[in-house]
Amino acid sequence: MPLNYPFCGSIVGHMDHHGWMSNRAVKTEAVVLRSMRYGEADRILQLYTPGRGRLSAIAKGVRRSRSRFGGRLEPFFRLRIELHEGRSELLTVTGAQTVDGHARLRGDGRALDAAARACDAVGRLFETTEPHPGVYNLLCRKLSLLDEHAGDGFSGGRAAALAFRLKLLLAAGLAPQLGACASCGEREHLVGFSGAAGGVVCAACEAGSFSLDQRAHLFMAQALGRPLTDAPEAVDSALAQVERAIAATLEHHAHVRLMPAAGASR
Ligand SMILES: [Zn+2]
Repeated sequence: MPLNYPFCGSIVGHMDHHGWMSNRAVKTEAVVLRSMRYGEADRILQLYTPGRGRLSAIAKGVRRSRSRFGGRLEPFFRLRIELHEGRSELLTVTGAQTVDGHARLRGDGRALDAAARACDAVGRLFETTEPHPGVYNLLCRKLSLLDEHAGDGFSGGRAAALAFRLKLLLAAGLAPQLGACASCGEREHLVGFSGAAGGVVCAACEAGSFSLDQRAHLFMAQALGRPLTDAPEAVDSALAQVERAIAATLEHHAHVRLMPAAGASR
């Protein structure tokens, strides 16, 4: 086992005669974001890793009843995974051990839905192989919180989902400016939010913004400053503004659209 587990992938390999690395074995931790059926018995996995960002991999024969992978290549599993990297962008899974299967959250529909939305957000916002170990840790923390609280109603909350998204924005370098008007620097009378400006705006600069009340503003500042375990709460109208602010930031600065933060039942 490499010494730098669990925060970095390790690579062993050699250069072939074209100077390309080939036949590389990659060992890394990973969370399964998505798992799609492929062909007769295979699955294509979307994985998020600490050292190599988002990867796609094929697991061959995984849907046969006697597959050595068992059921552990399903979404939300946290794994120690071994992959073979050839010339294609699609790596091949050669081994997998469970770090955490999050078995409890699988029995709670709301937790499952929240986990799916969290994984979807990570996969869309961090879609390249650029490493963001902080994002990996945040996702692991989110999944283990959902697992820990499965059945007690914590999981499906829109506030918890939005706090997670704000932390993803921070990790992506897109955290909205909240301390002063994002257009002119004014510190008082901050009444709106502008995705284009990248944060809250004052009354003089509010053209093109939408209104953001103090509760929404406070929620965003607290969510960014606190651990996920201590995520703030707010009334629905404030959370709706927060969700809109996050969406506007992502559309302007990352051209990414996320699914709603929480299901219609919340
Ligand atoms: Zn201003």
